Amino acid sequence: MQGSGRLVVIDRDGVINEDSRDFIKSVAEWRPIKGSLEAIAALHRAGRRVAVVTNQSGIGRGLYDVATLEAIHRHMLERIRAIGGDLAGIYYCPHRPDAGCECRKPRPGMFRALEHELGIAVAGAPYIGDRWSDIEAADAVGARPLLVRTGTGAATEAALGDRRVPVFDDLAAAVRSLLDEMG
Ligand SMILES: [Mg+2]
Ligand SMILES: [Zn+2]
Repeated sequence: MQGSGRLVVIDRDGVINEDSRDFIKSVAEWRPIKGSLEAIAALHRAGRRVAVVTNQSGIGRGLYDVATLEAIHRHMLERIRAIGGDLAGIYYCPHRPDAGCECRKPRPGMFRALEHELGIAVAGAPYIGDRWSDIEAADAVGARPLLVRTGTGAATEAALGDRRVPVFDDLAAAVRSLLDEMG
């Protein structure tokens, strides 16, 4: 397995696209956050492999089906590719929170699937999210959590307490910082 040096993992709702209390149930409801797709394209141009990990319990709740989710993800990928970006993988958990599955964040199942499929270790890789469960998921797999203030990120930041996590206004700012780090 390759080291994590080329991998960046990103949450979807509230980070790449606007989140909704009512879930994102259709392509029409999927609205990218300003600058997020361009940020993913910038990572790709910089030689990074970008993977998305997303809890989609709306499927388990019967709010939308797998075909709809996959249509949303095709649309997202097309928008990213149209500006010169790409995604190495999109991983989702379709289960309800009470299902006790291994994949719903903060559990590590999606990250393990990513490692298996892409052959890249997640330990040490940046993982950009907006919820406390994203930070916990990063901790569970030894990834490096970065928090954005979009989605529920501002509330997560307010609840950080003593936990030190780098916080950025949005994905574009987090990615600028990662790319600056690379020199
Ligand atoms: Mg999120
Ligand atoms: Zn699951």
